[in-house]
Amino acid sequence: MASCTYSVPDKNASGDNFYGAFICQQQYIDYFWEVYGFNGNKGYWDDGFGWHDACNTNKPLARTFNACYLLTYSASDYLNDSYDAPQNILQWGRRYVRESIDELRSFCGDGGAVASFSGGTAELYLSFWYDYSVVERAAILVHEARHEAKGHNATFPSGSVFGSSDDADSNWDYQGAWTFEAGYLWWFYAAGARTTSASRERARQAGNVIIDNAFATHPGFNI
Ligand SMILES: [Zn+2]
Repeated sequence: MASCTYSVPDKNASGDNFYGAFICQQQYIDYFWEVYGFNGNKGYWDDGFGWHDACNTNKPLARTFNACYLLTYSASDYLNDSYDAPQNILQWGRRYVRESIDELRSFCGDGGAVASFSGGTAELYLSFWYDYSVVERAAILVHEARHEAKGHNATFPSGSVFGSSDDADSNWDYQGAWTFEAGYLWWFYAAGARTTSASRERARQAGNVIIDNAFATHPGFNI
């Protein structure tokens, strides 16, 4: 982290102040550390990444914990994370991330990718913490988790804000990482609990950016 340079954007706008007020309890820190893939990866989260400063929402670890909190508690009936019961990703997204990401590691990155996934290990880069709000971070974790089952299969549409690489999904029904990410944002906008109206609106906007830019064939709807 010594070599990482970053600035911390407005923490009210990103939701980091709101969620940061909840995460700073040992029970949450222990729980997130255990279930979301941090365990065994202390070497990636110490130094400047926040291991010695787990409540400091200027740092990557606490900003990741904020996303874990949102992922864990945003369904009204959050204890029910069965894949078939309430049939929406707001309920089971947390379980899906837990079960798909074995190792969660932090890196400075090269300024390109936000995150990546390979063989059960998700890597997070600076942009993840400092270019995205808490709800967007949670949705990115869902995206990376989806890569356990499916990769991307198309090129971004022309003019896409995501560029021109092959990291797009062909369409919504492919049910790839972009559908999961946008779907999570959609459900959070529609039914997110223990959050703010500003975070829900942010989710709607972010979901629409994905719908408009991440599919080779536009889904034909917006949030
Ligand atoms: Zn992806």
